[in-house]
Amino acid sequence: MPNNYKKTAIGEHKLQPESLMMGYGYDPKLSEGAIKCPNFQTSTFVFESAEQGKHLFDVSSGRIQLKEGEKAGLVYSRFNNPTVEIAENRIAIWDNAQDCIVTGSGMSAISTTLLALSKPGDVIVYSEPIYGGTDTLINGMLTQMNIKAVGFISSEGTKGLEEALKTASEMGNISVVMLETPDNPTNNLVDLVKCRHLIDEISEKQLVRPILAVDNTMLGPLWQQPLNHGADLCLYSLTKYVGGHSDLIGGSCSGNKELIAKIRKIRNCIGTTMDSHTAWLILRSLETLKIRMQASAIGAKQVVDYLNTHQQVTRIDYPGLLTEGDPQYQIYKKQCTGAGSTFSFEIKGGEKAAFNVLNKLKLVKLAVSLGGTESLAQHPAAMTHSGVPKARRELIGVTDGLIRISIGIEEPADIIADLAQAMNEL
Ligand SMILES: *Cc1c(COP(=O)(O)O)cnc(C)c1O
Repeated sequence: MPNNYKKTAIGEHKLQPESLMMGYGYDPKLSEGAIKCPNFQTSTFVFESAEQGKHLFDVSSGRIQLKEGEKAGLVYSRFNNPTVEIAENRIAIWDNAQDCIVTGSGMSAISTTLLALSKPGDVIVYSEPIYGGTDTLINGMLTQMNIKAVGFISSEGTKGLEEALKTASEMGNISVVMLETPDNPTNNLVDLVKCRHLIDEISEKQLVRPILAVDNTMLGPLWQQPLNHGADLCLYSLTKYVGGHSDLIGGSCSGNKELIAKIRKIRNCIGTTMDSHTAWLILRSLETLKIRMQASAIGAKQVVDYLNTHQQVTRIDYPGLLTEGDPQYQIYKKQCTGAGSTFSFEIKGGEKAAFNVLNKLKLVKLAVSLGGTESLAQHPAAMTHSGVPKARRELIGVTDGLIRISIGIEEPADIIADLAQAMNEL
């Protein structure tokens, strides 16, 4: 049989990512014919000779460049590992990227990226609300290192971003524009093409071009692919949809070869690498990613339709409900191919009523996180976003009656029945 494990097409016919997830990058001949890529649970790799060891160290430290077609040899699992590399190759396919690194968590992907691209005096521009850990990193640790930050509220649209970029460029060089679109928990979208355009204008006045990085955890990779809309980097908490079974913690960052090499160098130095067992679980998960994301999106749509007719529900933050004429609708049509399955809804009666519903749920579990096979619900104001001051929370729509739900792959009618019994005695 020809060696076809790195082929992405059959003749002229281009293969889709979901087909490539079963075999891309893995040569069974190197592993006794095993159909699945083994978990290479090893910390280090044996050199064939001292000369080869010397060469591999020269390559991995960047002292010499690989020749065209030459493969980077294996040295030590903080730098590279076959299971981990195959996971990286496959995530890059989903993101339509040249290269990818995986890391020990979503936060380590974000922190490694921001550390690799920023130096003291630089400014990071970010969208709000942003993941709590990212907020703490940007406004806490990085500020202490004299890396400054300017936020803008994503629901304010391009105007907010424009002002933030202007303010930031007066403070120093903008190193990274870090976005979450849609945001969590209110699902507001940021226009990536517009953002790219604004950044390019700023670029001319700076020494270094600002990098547009998108945390694509909420919709990616199935429903949104930021690199196709002008982003430089696409980041994930793989813990969520990509891992998808609520049984691992991981992260990734995809982009062009040059940028990823820069971030990989920092990852290999500070040790935010993913372990091989987690990478092996990711390979398992990638095979069913598309059908899981599709099934939960279908379920979410049905749950939204139910909530939309419920008299206790005052608001639903779900991109699939956007209507023509809303500027958000235009962005949605342009950059997303689906609404995903994590959304929020507000009920009458504030925290007391919301807690009452959460406490009564029987099938849907009360937990933070999202994107797993099981449905999860939580209360952003008291849980994931409790660190945001109340006045700010009200401003960004994280009200006391808001419940966030991540729809899993259970039968949608069962999820609806659970919500109905929990909400009907409000
Ligand atoms: C969960 C999450 C993170 C952090 O990921 P971890 O894997 O928990 O470190 C970052 N961004 C978003 C949008 C998330 O939902």
